[in-house]
Amino acid sequence: MSDHHAPGGRFRNPWPVGREAGGSGWDVLKWVWERLRTERAPDPAPGAVPRAEPGLAVPRVPAESGELRVTWVGHATFLVQVPGVTVLTDPVFGRRASPVRWAGPTRFSPPGVALDQLPAVDAVLVSHDHYDHLDSWTVERLRDRYGPELAWFTPLGYARWFARRRVERVVELDWWDSAELETPAGRARVRCLPARHWTRRRVRDTRRRLWGSWALRGGGRGVYFGGDSGYSPGFAEIGAHEAPFDVALLPIGAYEPRWFMKSSHMNPEEAAQACRDVGAREMIGMHWGTFRLTDEDPLEPPVRARRAWSALGLPKEALHVPALGETLCF
Ligand code: ZN
Ligand code: ZN
Repeated sequence: MSDHHAPGGRFRNPWPVGREAGGSGWDVLKWVWERLRTERAPDPAPGAVPRAEPGLAVPRVPAESGELRVTWVGHATFLVQVPGVTVLTDPVFGRRASPVRWAGPTRFSPPGVALDQLPAVDAVLVSHDHYDHLDSWTVERLRDRYGPELAWFTPLGYARWFARRRVERVVELDWWDSAELETPAGRARVRCLPARHWTRRRVRDTRRRLWGSWALRGGGRGVYFGGDSGYSPGFAEIGAHEAPFDVALLPIGAYEPRWFMKSSHMNPEEAAQACRDVGAREMIGMHWGTFRLTDEDPLEPPVRARRAWSALGLPKEALHVPALGETLCF
């Protein structure tokens, strides 16, 4: 199970892949060229993505309640509250998903929960280093707000990046490794799991940090956080080792054009299948409605996700595409 370690300290996708995730420089040029010649749907008008009042458990979901609360902040950022433990996933509260402040994708929907509205947070799960999942500005704000107690769980290769931002409590895990988390109110277990994706913040560090997905279990509840991923046999492997989950948080956006995106991003049909593969009873669609990253109509993912879900014969009420800020209770 270590085929994802490539020689020279880089990482790779262990399943037979047509095109390597992330593509080559030529692929990027081809995509840019295509973009210049085809018309894209416009950016959504402000308010096109629905918003709702959050129903956060403050300070946490009580340990004995057995309740699970999931609040969508936007894109891949969720506040996940299992009994006694509260976790943030891929926190991005900044205005841009970009290495610089003056260019790159700007968010068209403000966060559904403001950073200073967050209740106690015990840990953060990071899936990979792309700018729409790991944001320096947000990391520093969370460090200042929660101090050194806040635990950051990452795949391999992130501790130095965090140390430069004076964040020391970083637990790096390889795929299939797990760690315990104890809080004043409860305990949970996190496990780093495979994803078909890639990493890069600067060209020279391409695939030097591992990417992954996560299982979070606490108080008898189980959540799967898919991060960013193309469809792969990895989901069935995860299901074989970790099923069942109460709910899977899976990406349903950033999939066009398929010739380029398929290796690293699922479309809604693949996400629905991945939900079944990992053995989750319900699914929450994410990775849409926030940043314009790819070519599909930004409002298409929920429509297609609902269609794909019913085409698989799955019960309508088990698929959730929450409003920004909306809290789902399980
Ligand atoms: Zn990514
Ligand atoms: Zn992404």
